[in-house]
Amino acid sequence: MITLALSKGRIFDETLPLLAAAGIEVLEDPEKSRKLIFATTQPDVQVVLVRASDVPTYVQYGGADLGVTGKDTLLEHGGDGLFQPLDLQIAKCRVSVAVRNDFDYAQAVKRGARLRVATKYPLIAREFFARKGVHVDLIKLYGSMELAPLTGLADAIVDLVSTGNTLRANHLQEVEHIIDISSHLVVNQAALKLKQKRLRHIIDVFAAGVAKNS
Ligand code: AMP
Repeated sequence: MITLALSKGRIFDETLPLLAAAGIEVLEDPEKSRKLIFATTQPDVQVVLVRASDVPTYVQYGGADLGVTGKDTLLEHGGDGLFQPLDLQIAKCRVSVAVRNDFDYAQAVKRGARLRVATKYPLIAREFFARKGVHVDLIKLYGSMELAPLTGLADAIVDLVSTGNTLRANHLQEVEHIIDISSHLVVNQAALKLKQKRLRHIIDVFAAGVAKNS
């Protein structure tokens, strides 16, 4: 059995065409089901749905043979024990710094203020501000970063931005673009040896799909 770990939403939706090219179709719509394990048109391939930040952990420890996960999650997780053969060029977005429209970020940085930054990416945020020489107190959050500057919890957030609509709707603006993000294929290293033929085929078909889309 080959187990593929995906997360609901953009990653699941945008991985489906790549799977279809490999002749793999998920037999049920996860949006209409409470199941966590889904059979596919290939009897030896199943899809497990896990939280986005858990995909690298499932693949690292062999709970899944392969998975699709954002570069943001990989940077934060560290990528230990994971073979990362492909940038799938899907679920594209960026990690940015955002503040309230009425917060003068440039001035705060210029005068060497200590910034309170809320994020679910403490490693990415710490490294970015350290390189800039800006002192920060990081506040780890698990959801809705946008609320933090609006309630006075933080001066700034480090979060994913795609269209910018969520920031605009909450009177926030992007002030730094930290890194471009897309989703990557990750593979368990032991599985790559034990199930080499099957996994190699999937990796090759995914690679052909990415090349066709770019
Ligand atoms: P947007 O309003 O299009 O800028 O999207 C921003 C919201 O969607 C934020 O809450 C992000 O955390 C989330 N988001 C944007 N792109 C992605 C992505 N590729 N994967 C997961 N979440 C995302």
